[in-house]
Parts: sequence; structure tokens; C-alpha cells
Amino acid sequence: MRIRWEDGVVVEAEETKIVFDPQSKRLNCKAVFITHAHVDHSHAFKIKHTPKFSSEETMRLATINGAEASNWQPLPLNEKIVLNDMEIKPHSSGHVLGSYEFEVSTPDGTVLFTGDMNTREFRIIKPAEPVSCDVLIIESTFGSPDFIFPPDDIVAKSMVDWAIRTLREGKIPVFRADSLGNAQEVIRIFNENTDLPVVSHSRVTKISRIYEAYGYKMEYVDMGSRDVDDLISNRNAVIVAPKNLDLSSYSPEYVSALVSGWALKFKRNSFPLSDHADFPNLIRFVGDCNPKLVLTYHGGRFNSILAKYIEKKLKIRSYPIDLITTSFRRQ
Ligand SMILES: [Zn+2]
Ligand SMILES: [Zn+2]
Repeated sequence: MRIRWEDGVVVEAEETKIVFDPQSKRLNCKAVFITHAHVDHSHAFKIKHTPKFSSEETMRLATINGAEASNWQPLPLNEKIVLNDMEIKPHSSGHVLGSYEFEVSTPDGTVLFTGDMNTREFRIIKPAEPVSCDVLIIESTFGSPDFIFPPDDIVAKSMVDWAIRTLREGKIPVFRADSLGNAQEVIRIFNENTDLPVVSHSRVTKISRIYEAYGYKMEYVDMGSRDVDDLISNRNAVIVAPKNLDLSSYSPEYVSALVSGWALKFKRNSFPLSDHADFPNLIRFVGDCNPKLVLTYHGGRFNSILAKYIEKKLKIRSYPIDLITTSFRRQ
């Protein structure tokens, strides 16, 4: 089989070519697989002509951003599909609602493509599942040894403490988080640990409603509803807003804090809660999959840092996926 980066992750065996999370519309392949609904992964919903597969959750989340599900088929968790002599099976990737990693079986060997992944036990999503494989294609967003996240319950406690302190100072705490994934985790943290009402920005609300449709309970008040003014003026709420919206620039009564793995790099008012695996968890995941070759992807300069570390510590051949076209045949 051949594996390469071509505006997406291409896997080819015999005459069958499939692409994972393509970023361009110019595609010539048998089928496209979409790991999850974050915009940098779900471009393919805009491609009309090629058959597309993802979880149903991913499609519903992507349609919030105007995606159309033409030529799309739902792929239920752990159910294989067969395309000529390839077999593709989705497993949970632990990242956001509906996110998949894909196991590909070909006559030349097996591949696991992680998409974005998280191995920690979270409040909502089941962790990524290690799958034994010949070639592992792994994301390296936090693929550098300085990314070690503190335990989630410690981060959660510091978020609650900061919110209560901010309210006592007469201000409103605003958590800026990815509207899909971290925002729902923040809502759950406050639901589980406090009686504070959570006010949710409309962009977050739209996504949380889909989580709820799949049975994930959350309590929040949408920012557009009538009770919100009272909650705010009584200093009796926390706000969850999209990452790129800074309410504190509109009014001095708001104090915002960023919720993201990148928070490790900032000091003030930020919390390192992430829906990605940190460095030790990436390394552990590679060990658990026990591959013969590891291709790193989606981490910019961390692709080569992670690959070098895998070669040194785990003695497994590894390099960034976009370095060369990889040909692989199981011995
Ligand atoms: Zn993502
Ligand atoms: Zn991503």
C-alpha cells in the first residue's frame, strides 16, 4: 500500500484510493472519510461528487456550519465497510462528540489513522482506543515533551475557584473555549461541581443541543433568554463563549479566561483543559498500538519532534507523513 499527504491523508492499496479529512475539493478517489466536525477536518462535506463517510454525530455538527450531506453515509461505531480489497472500521478517538479514528485493513497490512485524539477519561467522550496495527498515522498537536497536562480534576477545581473569586470581586467570569468540545466540558464541570447557572453563547448552545440529542445531559441558559440579565446583574452566573470572542473588550464587568491545551504556554487566567492527548499520552498510545512504522501529522513543527522522540525512545521507525510517499508491505 501507499500512504501520503495530499491535502489530506491518502491511503492507496491496489486500485483503491481513499482520503481522510481532505482539505481540498480537487479529489479523485473512491471515498472520503471524515474524522470529526472541527472545521479544519470536515471540509469534505462541501464536496458533492465523492462518497463520504462519518459518524452521524459528525454530520449533524458539521451542518451547523452550513455543510450539506450530499453523497454521505453514516458509519456507526465499530462497523466495518468494505471497498474492493480494503476494509475500514471506525473506533472512538476520544476528541469530541462523534469523533472517529479509522482502522484500515489491506492485503499489504493495517493502518490506524487517529485524526484528533484524546486518551484521557473525560466527562463526556470515551477515550481513544489503541488498535494494534502495522502503520500508525498519529496527530501531533501537542507532540513536544513540554506539553504535559495536569490531571483534569485539578484543572476543573482551579476553574471553579477562579470563577467564584471573580464573582466575589463583583465581575462576571467568561470562559473562552472551543465551541465544539471544550465548551461542553466547561458546562459539565460547573454542573457537576457548583450550583452556579451557566450562560451559554448561542454558538455554544447550538452545539450543546446536539450533544443533548445524543443523551449527554447539560444544564445551561442560552444567552438570548430573558433570565440572563438578572443572572448577570446579580453576579450569579458563569459565561461560556467561543474561543475567538472576547466579551471583556465590550464591558469591564466581564473577565475572560482561555480554556485550551495551549494555556500551558500562558500564565494568567487560562486553563489547560484539552480535547487532545498530551505528549506522554501520545507516546503511551504509540506503544499500545505497537506499530512497525509511525507517521506523524497535523502538528506543524511538532511532527518531526514527536517522530524523533518515537525513534529514540520506542525504537520504532517514524517521520512526518508529508516527508515522502510511504510504500508499505507486511513481510
Ligand atoms: Zn479537532
Ligand atoms: Zn485538528
